[in-house]
Amino acid sequence: MAKVSQLTELKGVGPKLAEQLHKLNIFTLADLYFHLPFRYEDRSRITPIAGLQPMRPAVFQGEVRGASVLFGKRRSLLVKLQDASGVISLRFYHFSAAQKKQFSNGATLRCYGEPRRGASGLEVYHPEYQLLEDGLDEPLEPSLTPVYPATDGISQQRLRLLHQQAHQLLRDQQVALTDLLPRSWLQQWRLPTLEESLLFLHQPDRNTPLEYLLSGQHPAQKRLILEELLAHQLSLHKIRAQVQAHQAPAINSPQQLQQQLLAQLPFTPTGAQQRVVKEIEQDIRQPYPMLRLVQGDVGSGKTLVAALAACDVLEAGFQVALMAPTEILAEQHLNNLSAWFEPLGIRCGWLAGKVKGKARNQSLSDIADGSAQLVVGTHALFQNDVDFARLGLIIVDEQHRFGVHQRLELREKGVQMGLSPHQLIMTATPIPRTLAMSAYADLDTSVIDELPPGRSPITTVAIADSRRPEIIQRVSAACAATTRGEPAAQAYWVCTLIEESEALQCQAAENTAQELQQALPHLRIGLVHGRMKAAEKADIMAAFKDHQLDLLVATTVIEVGVDVPNASLMVIENPERLGLAQLHQLRGRVGRGSAKSHCVLLYKSPLSFTSKQRLQVMRDSQDGFYIAEQDLMIRGPGEMLGTRQTGLQMLRVADLQRDGDLLPQVREMAEQLWNHHPQTVEPLIQRWLGEAERFANV
Ligand code: ADP
Ligand code: MG
Repeated sequence: MAKVSQLTELKGVGPKLAEQLHKLNIFTLADLYFHLPFRYEDRSRITPIAGLQPMRPAVFQGEVRGASVLFGKRRSLLVKLQDASGVISLRFYHFSAAQKKQFSNGATLRCYGEPRRGASGLEVYHPEYQLLEDGLDEPLEPSLTPVYPATDGISQQRLRLLHQQAHQLLRDQQVALTDLLPRSWLQQWRLPTLEESLLFLHQPDRNTPLEYLLSGQHPAQKRLILEELLAHQLSLHKIRAQVQAHQAPAINSPQQLQQQLLAQLPFTPTGAQQRVVKEIEQDIRQPYPMLRLVQGDVGSGKTLVAALAACDVLEAGFQVALMAPTEILAEQHLNNLSAWFEPLGIRCGWLAGKVKGKARNQSLSDIADGSAQLVVGTHALFQNDVDFARLGLIIVDEQHRFGVHQRLELREKGVQMGLSPHQLIMTATPIPRTLAMSAYADLDTSVIDELPPGRSPITTVAIADSRRPEIIQRVSAACAATTRGEPAAQAYWVCTLIEESEALQCQAAENTAQELQQALPHLRIGLVHGRMKAAEKADIMAAFKDHQLDLLVATTVIEVGVDVPNASLMVIENPERLGLAQLHQLRGRVGRGSAKSHCVLLYKSPLSFTSKQRLQVMRDSQDGFYIAEQDLMIRGPGEMLGTRQTGLQMLRVADLQRDGDLLPQVREMAEQLWNHHPQTVEPLIQRWLGEAERFANV
């Protein structure tokens, strides 16, 4: 008999239904099999009425013992149902006269629903029900009942029937699904075959505990979870392989520039900085592009690492571009780096959105003829009309805002005469291991896991805003010079607003600055927010850095990168509105000098449970990785990185939080498959990523 291979060969699937199935991303027969239930119901057994429990959906049946319409707050129909063990109430808020008639005394009903505690003891609201005409011999479901992701216009029932048909075909071996995992793996890891897994998951044995399925522990689930994670891993592998098929300048420099740079610094690199620089150097010696992510907690000294890597590339005669996400940050980098590099005879270039007209043309021509060697800027660096003479290295700071696609785009931009630049990505938002292994699997990772010496820990407290006056006094005390002649400290006051509008946020910051100036007339108070001109912002920042200001009131524009070691107190208003990663970033602005630092989280009470949990994490720890892990647990991976950016929102059976511990195994599998079973790579990616993967390769 000819095998069934098309979706439309199934009974009942015409063009109309096929179109509706497309909305569920079901285009092929195989897609249908991979459209898996997201939960199950047990309709395979009848529970005696006395055995029903609140919140546990079940099938039960009995005889009607009275049906009456009640006129309470809302009119409802209450039906008493009795079996040999007891009585339960069914309650209907929507009902017809015909329905009411069905519930005549003595009629036998079989119901499915979730009992809850109600006015008359256990009640089931709007149960599914069926009248049993002659006796009790209606068959029950033979297996657990799957519940599928559905959509408008295609009911659960319709999907189930379709799946039953497909299931039968698979069982009768009239459909061929290729098992893409090597046989030997199934034995080695004790996994069921693809067919076994799918047959089970669409119709699980009725004795399988629901909790077991819900936790994703069943071998049939494990196998598909592994397969899906594997497909994601392989797609990142593929991107990586595509990039590495490009050529890059192999950088071999005598490292004199590095020596010169280090010689003029007042400190020596930490062990971690040295190690990471070594890792980068090994990469850029290769004739294909480096793709390295450097993770380093706030203040760990990423800029120096970037600068040392830049030295090698500059010395070899190539340009280096450093891109930061905001103008404030880019400018700060420009200042730091030109102070380091100009004395060594390296010319720095600058390009940002605000650079216009003549200045911009000059910048562009310096970049194009190579006279700007180290070019610092924002996204403006990668606009179409920017041409580099010989770009050898792209450094992207604070990368967590970009996703895989943007990374790809950047790589493309730098290609010249067949040579791709190396790429170094630096993030201060530590990425939890599980995410790093999935969302960032196309990158190599280095970690700067050590802070420069002499930093003192930050004490963090959470205080309700009813105690605001007290906190204002605390700012005053901190910024006053002590009698013992210790220098006065400086402080940040960070305003946050939930409103979308930046204008409102800035207004709030302005109001706060005024309020604080009135309360603290003896302090020199500055204000920075996103709507000020870049030059104005830069002036204020410089004044704060020079200690011409005591207190800096700011919106979250100071989130990243700002470096003023003398600032040792930070007040953050409404911290409950910010993500943990962002709070951690903000707080990292203090604790940069040797003075003991404090952070006050001035929250608006009452706090929700989750907010309490999150502020607690901030008080407990200053370890960015721990905080990120907690953030992941509390919020989930999608929100943390921005779902759009990770591609992980498309996971169908896997759940990174639940299944994160499988990732090491998945990595190993991906290696093996890539090297020893390359023919299965593409089909696996197609099977699980389908459309999305096609999109990724534009
Ligand atoms: P981040 O990793 O947050 O970008 P930065 O690169 O801004 O950190 O460095 C923070 C501060 O630490 C800067 O003032 C920098 O000059 C200083 N710094 C960097 N490396 C060291 C070191 N090895 N010893 C002492 N100070 C250092
Ligand atoms: Mg930085």
